[in-house]
Amino acid sequence: MNASEALLPSNLRSMALDGDRSNFRRNSTSEIISVDGSNDIVDFGLVIDVDGVLLRGNSKIPNAKEGIELLKSLRIPFMLLTNGGGKTEVEMAEKFSNKIGTSFEDFQVQVSHTPLRFMSESFKNGLTLALGPPNTRALMESYGFKNIVTADEYHAVYPNLWPDEVPTNVEIQKEWTERINNVVVAYTPSNWYRDLQIVCDVVRSDGYPGNLVEHQSIPLFFAGPDFEYAAEMSVPRLGAGAFLKCLEHLFYLSTGTPLSCTVLGKPHKLTYECAMNILETQAYNQNCQPLQKIYAIGDNPSTDIAGANAAGSRWVSVLVETGLFKRVANQNNDPNHPAKIVSPDFYTAVHHILASRKKVPGKYLTESEISL
Ligand SMILES: [Mg+2]
Repeated sequence: MNASEALLPSNLRSMALDGDRSNFRRNSTSEIISVDGSNDIVDFGLVIDVDGVLLRGNSKIPNAKEGIELLKSLRIPFMLLTNGGGKTEVEMAEKFSNKIGTSFEDFQVQVSHTPLRFMSESFKNGLTLALGPPNTRALMESYGFKNIVTADEYHAVYPNLWPDEVPTNVEIQKEWTERINNVVVAYTPSNWYRDLQIVCDVVRSDGYPGNLVEHQSIPLFFAGPDFEYAAEMSVPRLGAGAFLKCLEHLFYLSTGTPLSCTVLGKPHKLTYECAMNILETQAYNQNCQPLQKIYAIGDNPSTDIAGANAAGSRWVSVLVETGLFKRVANQNNDPNHPAKIVSPDFYTAVHHILASRKKVPGKYLTESEISL
């Protein structure tokens, strides 16, 4: 099995060939990392959540920028891993660079739908029904999908799918008479009511809506599992994952069987295999040692910590207290998804990790020495 096949779980490996990693490759001019004159080289990397770790809404978390710049100065592989989406990695890297005040490259950012880039070429060549925000076609094309029909386009060609509101301003490129091979919901769809109907139609069929089958045969991928998210409103807002909850319920009511769906985003396994692949590529390009440890820093026990804890022995979960998790009396860790390390904030966590890795010599601060 090659590295790209390993990206996908066994039930998907038949779809996997050699996902395109070329967009993540960079010609590094880095020498073998030698900090403070040591001959040791780095054999670990960091996977960092954004909301609640580096940012809180639009506000920077104190010393987050300094923590990132410390990692950069030591040329330690790191990446941002967020369940957000709806934008390309290039757009997200620019957004995070502006908000946090230090630059990130696109290959250092993984959003919920990034694993789609690594799907096999044969999978990308089959007709994909793609649903999501208005830029979904461009997003899917950026991942190398070659045969896409969006919900708007399919609806415009087949108005009986949703006869009440047929889109009139859609540029129809072809008739799309062939079988739909797979369905991808690449983040929150724009038109829930219509799109719930169309997805149910397709996944209940043999690839031609209306031709009902007894068992689901059309693979469904869904990116953006968060049921709700924190925003400026005093109570959380419904996230992309709320669409999936509706879809699962409607599918069950219609068929009496549970929906089969591969979910992309934390805490799901495919997301961590993709992150490991991206981080290992970065480490290789920086002439680092093979990664022995991957520190996953996050604020959400049920996603960041649960996902890292389940991702394998190389992963070390690190829970910070600047977001969802709050330490309470007599309870210094999350009871349901305990982290390997609990730290007040990202900057302290970075120092703790650096101090614990004997291969990176230097004077790092302890928790009590850092005052925020
Ligand atoms: Mg978070």
